Amino acid sequence: MSAPCVSILLPLPGSTGEAASARAAIERYLETTGFTFDVIPIEAREGEGYGAQLRRGLAEARGATIVIADAELPYPISAIGDAVAMIDSGAADVVFGSTRSGEDPRNLLLHWTLVPILPDPAVRLKAFSEHAARLTIGESKLPGGACDLELAFLANKYGFRVERLTVPNGGTTRSFSATSLVSAIRVRLINRNMGYRAARRCPVCFSNEVWSCGQIPDNVIRCCKRCKCRYLNRIVADEDTGPVRREIGAPRDVSDPFDDTHHSRGARDKTSVRRLAYLRRQLTAGARVLEVGVRDGGFGSVAAREFEYVGIDRAQPAARGARAKGLEVYCATLGSFVNTGPAFDAIALFHVFENMADPYDALGRLKDLLKPGGLLFLTTFDTEGILYLMTEGRRMVENFRNHRILYSRSALIELLEHSGYEILDIGPDFEFRDHKFLRHRVINRWPYLAALLRPILRILPNPLLVTSGSMSILAKRRAGPTVDIRSIRSVEPTHAR
Ligand SMILES: [Zn+2]
Repeated sequence: MSAPCVSILLPLPGSTGEAASARAAIERYLETTGFTFDVIPIEAREGEGYGAQLRRGLAEARGATIVIADAELPYPISAIGDAVAMIDSGAADVVFGSTRSGEDPRNLLLHWTLVPILPDPAVRLKAFSEHAARLTIGESKLPGGACDLELAFLANKYGFRVERLTVPNGGTTRSFSATSLVSAIRVRLINRNMGYRAARRCPVCFSNEVWSCGQIPDNVIRCCKRCKCRYLNRIVADEDTGPVRREIGAPRDVSDPFDDTHHSRGARDKTSVRRLAYLRRQLTAGARVLEVGVRDGGFGSVAAREFEYVGIDRAQPAARGARAKGLEVYCATLGSFVNTGPAFDAIALFHVFENMADPYDALGRLKDLLKPGGLLFLTTFDTEGILYLMTEGRRMVENFRNHRILYSRSALIELLEHSGYEILDIGPDFEFRDHKFLRHRVINRWPYLAALLRPILRILPNPLLVTSGSMSILAKRRAGPTVDIRSIRSVEPTHAR
């Protein structure tokens, strides 16, 4: 593998001897690292600001990683190597050098106006992957130091993963100050007037009013302003057709407070029975029912007693385990499953729809499997729900451990109606949870409630019926032709930046 190629941009405040020595020092250092590199000093032109200098320098940069260094080199030179390593390893698309590990409280207003992660004005050290540099620096408009604010804003707009690199010292010149609110408002106005290139569209409603609302290890969570959905920025391509992205491996650490899969068998069975009772009211005995994502076969075991049950799961061990219970379960994805029998009367998806990368494709396939008037029963998170909104910040990693797109109630209704379904019933989803699980969860979050919780739980039934902020939807396949949403999609690419 060839060494990574790095372009170092060195915007010069003037033509001073200091700049020449900085350049020599950077070159000396980079020679020891084994990187292929070019150092590009950018002389200031008459009346030209920092931002304009960066854009001019970027045109000359050829590296796969682009670093913007300070001519005065106030930090140890090895920080440049660290920044390159962070980009090169894929840990971040954008790195901001900073003298502090957290945010500067003086910039509170700027954070509120723009984005949560701003560069440190005292440190001009920044590193970008080539793609991130071309988009953020290339799209920036402000001429002076406030261009840094614009870069932070655009990094968020285009969904780049931003990390901080803590360096001990800062420079003497600051790129922007806490009073740069005017610049921040200018950035907002340019954005409002569509002055920047549009971001990649929302996969649900195709709006380009999308935003990064959080970062989890290795990925960025995007949020759509229009439909309120949350989705993973980068969905691994080889898993694109899979309906269930659940890895069956060694049991998870039981002490993991966010894992809700280890509540007892009794609670899960009661949930399955409750779901079946709901379906029984809608279907006649002996109806043909398909479950997508069978997990442990819990629902299948109870459903097979009354209905002609078929299950699919993309995980081989899950399918095998369910078959061992005597169920008709195939190891298949929604895309690869071929129904050899008659069309289904109902299809159930319990927290599986969130795992599908393309909701339109999935709903189209489900529609093909259903008979006209057939029922779709799905449970999923509700990003408009109060419980979800209250816990979103804390549970970001957990929410996206297995999920790719989380839907809001209104978006899901619109999605189903556009895909040829008619909503029959929608409401909060209730599941049984045992006391041990509830205690664990509550005490983990609010330890002071421990003493209060014990006597309360003692008088409540075990397992207890609770809602986790999810919704359950029952929809009917319409008989008529559907809106051809795929032809709309071909005009409006969602996943091409
Ligand atoms: Zn949307």
